[in-house]
Order: sequence, then structure tokens, then C-alpha cells
Amino acid sequence: MLTTCPECGGRIERARHTVDVHIGRRTVAVEGDYSRCTGDCAECYFAAGEMDAVISRATDVIRANEGLLTPADIKSLRKRIGLTQPQLEQLLGAGLKTVTRWEKGTVIQNGATDTLLRLIRDVPEALTYLLRARQVVPKMVPTLVPTLVPNALVVSAPSAASAALTPSGSRARRPR
Ligand SMILES: [Zn+2]
Repeated sequence: MLTTCPECGGRIERARHTVDVHIGRRTVAVEGDYSRCTGDCAECYFAAGEMDAVISRATDVIRANEGLLTPADIKSLRKRIGLTQPQLEQLLGAGLKTVTRWEKGTVIQNGATDTLLRLIRDVPEALTYLLRARQVVPKMVPTLVPTLVPNALVVSAPSAASAALTPSGSRARRPR
């Protein structure tokens, strides 16, 4: 933690204030914790974790305003289809660590990608198509929600499999 300003040698104090965050063409005002020089330069210093927290708060606001899936939504849909983060990147043709950043809240998916994510969440055929086209084999046990599986399938599935497909409370925990 800084105690003396590297710029002017002034005393550093902790501050909590509204900061403007610029993300692409958007500007969002959110609360942020940081260190501030009480000397002449009045410089503001953000530690890495403080910067991430501010950016994550700003992306939360943008997602809410634009009706985009939240980091928790993306994580839960990924787990539901049994993919690791690199596998979801492969499925979508997204860059390395992209899904990690979405789930951390430091990067926002664009509108088209958001649509694609909803499609693989809500339309089993779309997911099947992409799994095949991108040659992705789910590594984790899918925690599929009942709504993703047609009723007939659940009824006719072996009891062990249908139990795995319909964990108790999964419907209640499902976002939206
Ligand atoms: Zn200073």
C-alpha cells in the first residue's frame, strides 16, 4: 500500500468516490476505492484489484442497461452444458481467456455473442450443431436444467440419467 506519492512526495490517503469508467464508447459512473495524493499533484492511484472491482462494477451497469447476460448467467449456462472455459471459447470461436474475462466481469460480450450464448442455452439443436461443427466434447458432467430437455426425453431416460439431468433445486437457482 502506498504511503508517499511517487510523483510529488505528498501524503497518500484512502478514498472512496464516484469514478467515470470508459468502456468502448460508453462511460459509466461507479463507486471506487483507491489511494489519493493529498499533495499538490492530487494524483489517484488504483491497485490492480481495485481497478478490476471498478471495471467489474461498470460492466455490471452496462450489462443491466443493455439487457446482456451477467457473468453469473454465462458461468451457469457453461456449466449446464458441461464445458470448460477453453471449450466454450472453442465452441464460439472466441479468443483465449475470453470466457474467463466474461465470467470475471472485466470484459463484456457484444450483442451478437450474447445472442449466440442464449441460443446455445435455450435451443438444444443449436448446441448440438456447434458441438459437432467445432468438435467439442463436453469435459464436465452437464448440469442441464429440465427446461432444456423435452419432457418426453426426461420421462423415457434411464432413472440414473434423468436424476443427473434434473438436480433438485436447479430450476430455482436458474437465473431468469
Ligand atoms: Zn502527489
